Amino acid sequence: LAKLKLNYRLTEHNCLRLPATCGAYCCVNTESDIQQALDYARDHAFDVLALGDGSNVVLGELSQTLVLDINLHGVEIVSETEHAVVLKIMAGESWHGLVEYCVRHQYYGLENLALIPGRVGAAPVQNIGAYGVEVGDFITQIDGFALGNDARNAKLTSLTADQCQFAYRDSIFKRALRDNFIITAVYLELHKQFTPQLEYQALRSYLSKNVAHNSIIDAEAVKNAVIAIRQQKLPDPQVIPNVGRFFKNPVVDEQTFQHLFAHNPNLAYTQLTVNNENIKQYKLAAGWLIEQAGLKGIEYDGLAMYERQALVLARVGQVSEHSDIAAQDVMRFARRVQRSVKQRFSVLLEIEPRCYPASLLSC
Ligand SMILES: Cc1cc2nc3c(=O)[nH]c(=O)nc-3n(C[C@H](O)[C@H](O)[C@H](O)COP(=O)(O)OP(=O)(O)OC[C@H]3O[C@@H](n4cnc5c(N)ncnc54)[C@H](O)[C@@H]3O)c2cc1C
Repeated sequence: LAKLKLNYRLTEHNCLRLPATCGAYCCVNTESDIQQALDYARDHAFDVLALGDGSNVVLGELSQTLVLDINLHGVEIVSETEHAVVLKIMAGESWHGLVEYCVRHQYYGLENLALIPGRVGAAPVQNIGAYGVEVGDFITQIDGFALGNDARNAKLTSLTADQCQFAYRDSIFKRALRDNFIITAVYLELHKQFTPQLEYQALRSYLSKNVAHNSIIDAEAVKNAVIAIRQQKLPDPQVIPNVGRFFKNPVVDEQTFQHLFAHNPNLAYTQLTVNNENIKQYKLAAGWLIEQAGLKGIEYDGLAMYERQALVLARVGQVSEHSDIAAQDVMRFARRVQRSVKQRFSVLLEIEPRCYPASLLSC
């Protein structure tokens, strides 16, 4: 396999810039490249890991892993009507590049998901979402290689949206098909008529302050508002290494919520409706819990919960190729945050990015 590199350093391939090394690495440009790489992995007893821009991973030592850098490109129209278009987008395309492309071509729906880092192939994995919109709402089909137990017999296959089981920051690619399906293409059905999605107060108030009173709020305006809000709040991983929000917002039951609320009347939360049942659940703002636990902006050994958004674990200070922060240090810091929040609120924060190798989770 011509493009294969052994004992390859992944520092430039993960947004925390951790100095991980993998046993083998291959940048794959076609489906046939993937098939060959899978054969190689099978012959050399390597695990396989699909990687995009590394904006949602914590990477440790992966000596028995072949990392596939998913670099398949192309966008094509699969079908089109007066009202909608279905696009097939190859997995290596930039997510934000796709959002820009769609707004330019007047294919609507993705504006609220502007500036989310990463590639198209990773978007379905955690069903990326922002400002009230999730990518799963638009997906009609996913193509990819199902690995099963035998990488050599991996076949190119298709999944319907239903089979992907999209939920809040979740999909089948994080559960039954976890690390067992290499996405090669994503199909999205987008609208030809623009309807702004403005449930989020932050978005509404930005637009009302920044768009002239009588002007029409078009897709470009919404996309630009999302970009501006994100740039104010979130650190650019190119400047301050981070993988976005590090913890999920915990969901608690009525009893836990009432207990917390009685002691913390300022608790930041949203009430969830659980499918036609009479059960109440509450999603707590993990960033608020972290801030109240006194951890926002406090540095421990080169790591901190970001001062402008406490949910983001970021590296602080000088970051160089030779700085010695490794995945274990990140996990130890995350445990410290989890402990403090647990002590203060008796709530466990769950880690959002994917950790490789899985043993990192028991650090
Ligand atoms: C500053 C910042 C802000 C962020 N904001 C948001 C946000 O608002 N909403 C949100 O949902 N996320 C957000 N994220 C998280 C991240 O951008 C998304 O999860 C993104 O989809 C990850 O893309 P990636 O290419 O970097 O994936 P990677 O980090 O490379 O991979 C993530 C996971 O997907 C798997 N994967 C990648 N490509 C494939 C493929 N082709 N086939 C199968 N599996 C694959 C990997 O194995 C891994 O498990 C943010 C991250 C950062 C750094």
